Amino acid sequence: MSRRVTAEEAANASYAELMAMQEAGDLPGLDGKPRRTNADRAKNYQTRREALIAKLGGKCVVKGCTNTDLELDHIGPTRDWRASDKPRWVRIKLYEQEAERGELQLLCGDHNKRKGKPKRRRAS
Ligand SMILES: [Zn+2]
Repeated sequence: MSRRVTAEEAANASYAELMAMQEAGDLPGLDGKPRRTNADRAKNYQTRREALIAKLGGKCVVKGCTNTDLELDHIGPTRDWRASDKPRWVRIKLYEQEAERGELQLLCGDHNKRKGKPKRRRAS
Protein backbone atom coordinates (compact mmCIF):
# COMPACT_ATOMS: atom_id res chain seq x y z
CA MET A 1 0.00 0.00 0.00
CA SER A 2 1.35 3.39 -0.85
CA ARG A 3 1.34 6.36 1.44
CA ARG A 4 1.21 9.99 0.45
CA VAL A 5 4.43 11.93 0.76
CA THR A 6 3.93 15.56 1.72
CA ALA A 7 5.46 18.38 -0.32
CA GLU A 8 7.60 19.11 2.76
CA GLU A 9 8.99 15.58 2.81
CA ALA A 10 9.60 15.62 -0.92
CA ALA A 11 11.40 18.95 -0.59
CA ASN A 12 13.73 17.55 2.04
CA ALA A 13 14.37 14.20 0.37
CA SER A 14 17.55 13.37 -1.48
CA TYR A 15 17.44 12.58 -5.17
CA ALA A 16 17.78 8.84 -4.47
CA GLU A 17 14.98 8.96 -1.89
CA LEU A 18 12.74 10.80 -4.35
CA MET A 19 13.38 8.22 -7.03
CA ALA A 20 12.44 5.49 -4.55
CA MET A 21 9.24 7.36 -3.59
CA GLN A 22 8.36 7.76 -7.22
CA GLU A 23 9.01 4.08 -7.89
CA ALA A 24 6.77 3.12 -4.96
CA GLY A 25 4.01 5.45 -6.17
CA ASP A 26 4.20 7.42 -2.91
CA LEU A 27 4.45 10.85 -4.45
CA PRO A 28 1.41 13.10 -4.57
CA GLY A 29 -0.22 13.82 -7.86
CA LEU A 30 0.93 10.67 -9.61
CA ASP A 31 -1.68 8.18 -8.41
CA GLY A 32 -3.97 6.86 -11.07
CA LYS A 33 -2.43 8.96 -13.78
CA PRO A 34 -0.81 7.49 -16.84
CA ARG A 35 2.95 7.26 -16.53
CA ARG A 36 4.43 10.32 -18.11
CA THR A 37 7.43 10.32 -20.35
CA ASN A 38 10.53 12.40 -19.71
CA ALA A 39 9.55 14.56 -22.69
CA ASP A 40 6.19 15.31 -21.03
CA ARG A 41 7.96 16.22 -17.83
CA ALA A 42 10.43 18.49 -19.60
CA LYS A 43 7.60 20.27 -21.41
CA ASN A 44 5.65 20.65 -18.19
CA TYR A 45 8.70 22.13 -16.46
CA GLN A 46 9.32 24.59 -19.29
CA THR A 47 5.68 25.67 -19.41
CA ARG A 48 5.48 26.20 -15.67
CA ARG A 49 8.83 27.98 -15.56
CA GLU A 50 7.74 30.34 -18.34
CA ALA A 51 4.45 31.01 -16.52
CA LEU A 52 6.37 31.84 -13.34
CA ILE A 53 8.71 34.18 -15.20
CA ALA A 54 5.72 35.97 -16.77
CA LYS A 55 4.03 36.21 -13.37
CA LEU A 56 7.17 37.75 -11.87
CA GLY A 57 7.24 40.49 -14.48
CA GLY A 58 9.36 38.91 -17.20
CA LYS A 59 12.56 40.85 -16.59
CA CYS A 60 15.53 41.26 -14.27
CA VAL A 61 14.55 43.24 -11.15
CA VAL A 62 17.67 45.41 -11.36
CA LYS A 63 16.55 48.80 -12.62
CA GLY A 64 17.41 49.42 -16.24
CA CYS A 65 18.74 45.91 -16.82
CA THR A 66 17.72 44.45 -20.17
CA ASN A 67 19.51 41.09 -20.02
CA THR A 68 17.26 38.26 -21.04
CA ASP A 69 18.99 35.24 -19.49
CA LEU A 70 16.61 35.16 -16.53
CA GLU A 71 17.06 33.07 -13.42
CA LEU A 72 14.63 32.47 -10.58
CA ASP A 73 16.21 33.97 -7.49
CA HIS A 74 15.28 33.40 -3.87
CA ILE A 75 14.73 36.64 -1.95
CA GLY A 76 16.26 36.86 1.50
CA PRO A 77 18.55 34.32 3.15
CA THR A 78 19.84 31.45 1.08
CA ARG A 79 17.44 28.64 0.23
CA ASP A 80 17.53 25.60 2.46
CA TRP A 81 17.69 23.43 -0.67
CA ARG A 82 19.92 23.33 -3.69
CA ALA A 83 18.41 23.40 -7.14
CA SER A 84 21.05 20.98 -8.39
CA ASP A 85 19.95 18.39 -5.79
CA LYS A 86 16.36 18.28 -7.01
CA PRO A 87 14.86 16.85 -10.15
CA ARG A 88 13.18 19.56 -12.18
CA TRP A 89 9.61 18.52 -11.36
CA VAL A 90 10.36 18.99 -7.64
CA ARG A 91 12.29 22.21 -8.25
CA ILE A 92 9.44 23.85 -10.15
CA LYS A 93 7.01 23.03 -7.35
CA LEU A 94 9.38 24.61 -4.81
CA TYR A 95 9.76 27.68 -7.03
CA GLU A 96 5.99 28.02 -7.30
CA GLN A 97 5.65 27.80 -3.52
CA GLU A 98 8.33 30.47 -3.08
CA ALA A 99 6.54 32.72 -5.55
CA GLU A 100 3.30 32.23 -3.59
CA ARG A 101 5.11 33.41 -0.47
CA GLY A 102 6.67 36.38 -2.28
CA GLU A 103 10.15 34.92 -1.92
CA LEU A 104 11.00 34.71 -5.58
CA GLN A 105 12.31 37.31 -7.99
CA LEU A 106 13.89 37.40 -11.42
CA LEU A 107 17.53 38.20 -11.91
CA CYS A 108 19.61 37.88 -15.05
CA GLY A 109 22.57 35.53 -14.83
CA ASP A 110 24.97 38.42 -14.42
CA HIS A 111 23.13 40.10 -11.55
CA ASN A 112 22.46 36.78 -9.87
CA LYS A 113 26.18 35.97 -9.90
CA ARG A 114 27.05 39.35 -8.44
CA LYS A 115 24.37 39.20 -5.77
CA GLY A 116 25.67 38.97 -2.23
CA LYS A 117 29.27 39.38 -3.25
CA PRO A 118 31.05 42.43 -1.89
CA LYS A 119 31.69 45.05 -4.51
CA ARG A 120 35.26 45.03 -5.60
CA ARG A 121 37.11 47.76 -7.28
CA ARG A 122 38.67 46.72 -10.51
CA ALA A 123 42.32 47.65 -10.91
CA SER A 124 42.77 50.00 -13.80
ZN1 LIG B 1 20.13 42.08 -14.61
